[in-house]
Amino acid sequence: MTVTQAAQAATPIRPLDAVGWQLVEFSGVAKDFTTPEGPFRAVQDVNLEVRRGEVVTLVGPSGCGKSTLLNMTAGLFVPTAGKVSYDGREIRQINTKTGYMTQNDHLLPWRNVLDNIAVPLEIAGLSRSDIRARVQVLIDMVGLTGFEQSFPTQLSGGMRKRAALARLLAYDPETLLLDEPFAALDAQMRLKMQVELLSISRKLNKTVLFVTHDLDEAVGLGDRIAVFSPRPGTIRRLITSPLGHDRDLLRLRHEPAYASLCAELWDMIVPSIESHQ
Ligand code: ADP
Ligand code: MG
Repeated sequence: MTVTQAAQAATPIRPLDAVGWQLVEFSGVAKDFTTPEGPFRAVQDVNLEVRRGEVVTLVGPSGCGKSTLLNMTAGLFVPTAGKVSYDGREIRQINTKTGYMTQNDHLLPWRNVLDNIAVPLEIAGLSRSDIRARVQVLIDMVGLTGFEQSFPTQLSGGMRKRAALARLLAYDPETLLLDEPFAALDAQMRLKMQVELLSISRKLNKTVLFVTHDLDEAVGLGDRIAVFSPRPGTIRRLITSPLGHDRDLLRLRHEPAYASLCAELWDMIVPSIESHQ
């Protein structure tokens, strides 16, 4: 029995009638794009249910349609076939229950950390004192205390990510759509951010769709891991993490289950790498 099969066998199936347990649902989803060279299918036959409060990682090679799936969840793209639903309703317009963060942090260079994080609260029309109080809570949560007055150019890559995460949380979205947010960070900082993200999402009970092309990141962060094929992207494997809800990302490398799952997934993608040599 592989690690994956053992984990799946050990995971109790939640009852289907548990109210609202599935928040995002892709059923039979396909997306075609038109280019000057003609139309092509970016994703096909994607079926996935994301449960409230879980972290699902979407991992696959560049161009397999990961960002396209996030865009559909945000209501920015409409599927060509199939349906994407949120909390039981088909997504037909911008999904305001989601917050999006990409590799580019889009911090406003002329605003300091405090004022960058305040943007969503200003838009929502909160009073200055409410904004100040709420922003400070977020700054403390992401570990930027003491850097309130710093401008984006004065921050390290990791600190910029923290500021962008705090600003995202200021919107208080129910679901976080994170598109390779830590890809530009060095390995240690990336791990640190993963630890914080997992801890914050648990604390605030956020649902997370996390896109990455990094298998180790996908395995560490995901309560479930959706492994995609190359384009047209479809889910080749959907794995329930064998690492437990309270996994310690800093110590995963000592866990045999982590090593075996990473190896298992690497073995799965090796043929597609070899065929492109
Ligand atoms: P990934 O995030 O997995 O790298 P994407 O979802 O960004 O993949 O893209 C999947 C495929 O669809 C790619 O070939 C990309 O070039 C194409 N694509 C994405 N968005 C558009 C668009 N708006 N118009 C045309 N092609 C697109
Ligand atoms: Mg992408």
